[in-house]
Amino acid sequence: MLPHRDRARPASGAEKGLAGVDDHTTVLIVGAGPSGLVLGNLLRGAGVETLVVERAQREQVLTRARAGFLGPHSARVLAEHGLGAGMLHRGRTHGVCAFRGGDGEFEVDYSRRGRGEAHTVYPQQDLVSDLIEEYLDRGGDLRFGVTVTDVDARTATIGYRDATGTGRARGRFLAGCDGSNGVTRHALPESVTRHRQDHGVAWLAVLAEAPQSMAAVTYALHDDGFAGHMARSPDVTRYYLQVPPDDDPEAWTDDRIWAALDVRMRTAEFGPLRRGRITERRIVHLRSEVVDPIQHDRLFLVGDAASAISPSAAKGANLAIMEAELLARALVAALHHDDHTALAAYSSTCLPRIWRAQEFSRWMIDLLHGPTDGSADFQRGLRHARLDSLRDSDAHQHFFAEHYVGI
Ligand SMILES: Cc1cc2nc3c(=O)[nH]c(=O)nc-3n(C[C@H](O)[C@H](O)[C@H](O)COP(=O)(O)OP(=O)(O)OC[C@H]3O[C@@H](n4cnc5c(N)ncnc54)[C@H](O)[C@@H]3O)c2cc1C
Repeated sequence: MLPHRDRARPASGAEKGLAGVDDHTTVLIVGAGPSGLVLGNLLRGAGVETLVVERAQREQVLTRARAGFLGPHSARVLAEHGLGAGMLHRGRTHGVCAFRGGDGEFEVDYSRRGRGEAHTVYPQQDLVSDLIEEYLDRGGDLRFGVTVTDVDARTATIGYRDATGTGRARGRFLAGCDGSNGVTRHALPESVTRHRQDHGVAWLAVLAEAPQSMAAVTYALHDDGFAGHMARSPDVTRYYLQVPPDDDPEAWTDDRIWAALDVRMRTAEFGPLRRGRITERRIVHLRSEVVDPIQHDRLFLVGDAASAISPSAAKGANLAIMEAELLARALVAALHHDDHTALAAYSSTCLPRIWRAQEFSRWMIDLLHGPTDGSADFQRGLRHARLDSLRDSDAHQHFFAEHYVGI
């Protein structure tokens, strides 16, 4: 049997009596990241019985620092469904980004371009923490330390391993919210298309216990490689450094990181960075993967499980929230009204949005990085031309703003 619920809750209408199955529910959700938790909350809000199983322990889930920039659609979904209290109290509005290079620096006030929308900066681990609290308050069933080992899409059944042994659990529907390294996507048939793209670029993702050094997200272009600066909270800032894909993060001492940031961010010209203890350094490979279709039988993929996306344009968590909302609505229509139209169209509704996000993320990769294929001078020329256009052209800035914050 699955381990005890994270918090004791009264059972709320779980279906009974499926032969040979230890645990069963209406919607079985694999993964307690943003996609699984938003989906779980929306379904619980509509009175649907859910079970979320998560491989990691609670402490790990609550301390995984990843995304931070929520687009307006994500903020609206969270607020509309009663999931936005923390974000509204502690999140910060952010609507300007800066590009820094050999020719100086310019800003794009994207909150005044495109659709006139801004980001809300709210660390992913804080969002996940809020979502867990709310899910449990809504009577949701959540089990940590449960690793799903195999999946049957036809019967919506999982095999799992936990501290007590192995078992099986089943739902009427199964949501694969287990990220880009999860197992649920492998339950799709061979006929599914799996688009994979390695962008040939890697970032050293760094978290520093230091306030932000600049008012805006800053993208620095340098012949040594890209460097990025992004606020996360008043006391924590994320930095990125482009590094060789096979680099060892441990070879990057604190001093080496700050020295590289100084050079690439041109602090001698623009002013110093506010330094602090570095609490995380990890290599992030800029890769994409899109599964098509993202549903089969009773299995529906959501978030990174459906489409891994590079963090270059901060789209991953936003796609995850968008898809979770669409799937929740579709499942509620099917379960409460016997209307399966939206459920049948889930994949075809999501995929155009996924591809648009992939396209803009790739656009950002091309803008921010030096050549990876030896065509240095030509690529550098193109990059300068694109940056100049972004600096000088109102139309280009509107294009950028619309895609930078939109899904
Ligand atoms: C450095 C970095 C910065 C980023 N910045 C941004 C940003 O600013 N904005 C943005 O929108 N996105 C950003 N992203 C992307 C964003 O973090 C992801 O897209 C988001 O976490 C996807 O959510 P998810 O719920 O689909 O998957 P995940 O967050 O990966 O959650 C999947 C869950 O499933 C669990 N799991 C996996 N396998 C199993 C199994 N076999 N059994 C049970 N459980 C399992 C995992 O433990 C995990 O908890 C960033 C990513 C990185 C790495």
